[in-house]
Amino acid sequence: MTLGIISNTRCKLHEMGDSHPEQPARLDAIEDQLADSGLEALVSRYKATRVTREQLLAAHDARYIELVYEVAPKEGMIWLDGDTAMNPHSLAAAEYAAGAAVMGVDLVMQGEVGQVFCPVRPPGHHAVKRGAMGFCIFSNVAIAAYHAINHWQLERVAIVDFDVHHGNGTEDIVSGDDRILLCSSFQHPFYPGTGADTNVPNIVNMPLPAGTDGATFRKVMKEQCLPRVQQFAPQLILISAGFDAHRADHLAMLNLVEEDYAWITRELVQLAALSAEGRIVSCLEGGYNLQALASSVEAHLRAMLDQD
Ligand SMILES: [Zn+2]
Repeated sequence: MTLGIISNTRCKLHEMGDSHPEQPARLDAIEDQLADSGLEALVSRYKATRVTREQLLAAHDARYIELVYEVAPKEGMIWLDGDTAMNPHSLAAAEYAAGAAVMGVDLVMQGEVGQVFCPVRPPGHHAVKRGAMGFCIFSNVAIAAYHAINHWQLERVAIVDFDVHHGNGTEDIVSGDDRILLCSSFQHPFYPGTGADTNVPNIVNMPLPAGTDGATFRKVMKEQCLPRVQQFAPQLILISAGFDAHRADHLAMLNLVEEDYAWITRELVQLAALSAEGRIVSCLEGGYNLQALASSVEAHLRAMLDQD
């Protein structure tokens, strides 16, 4: 079965200032890489639709959603937190980013595609139930997980987050919900500082010290994440695919390379085949060195396509 790529040009119009690392050029870098990769013939392209209010409400507090719609500027820029701004296009970008993740769930559940990748922004995994945080407005992956549960009646959804930052927003939303297993690897201590002392049955946090390389990353994943996912037997695997743990990404200090992203992707493809009929929906989170981001995304997609 084919790989679906779901995006929307509106995601490129969201801007938070020239010096902000979470910039539209990230999506251009990915698209340029895909154009040169020869993979285009193997993927199916879809245009994301907007997330609905009901889908947002499954993951976020109603008052926070109202706030985002109220403060979204018609001109200029406003800041939701110290790192997260909205320009006149940001609300639509956030609606389409979350909408892409929801559409991804629909496409894999309908059997139209085997796996999905959503190159979207803003990212989502720091957005908490009641607030924006760390470049994120809506929790794209948590919204997708609840869509799978509420609309498709799934009983077990696994989320694997290999972004270099702890998926604190996803954790805030799904903590204690045993229909969802969240596994998050992250540099620690580091932004946002959470995760190392979480003690909740459905959360598997894997704090990694600065300087951790691919060998240690794989060992920790093999020991702590992959067996838990297999035991959980998810009917769908969602990936918070951040590529900022790459050694060339200077926002953080881990030392992964493209082959490490290919490896974890292959492992998740195998687990998805065991219990989820292969269904994977992967959503872009971080990744700020444009070249490393683009080549890591290519490695991730090649692994899903079994073309590496
Ligand atoms: Zn990150």
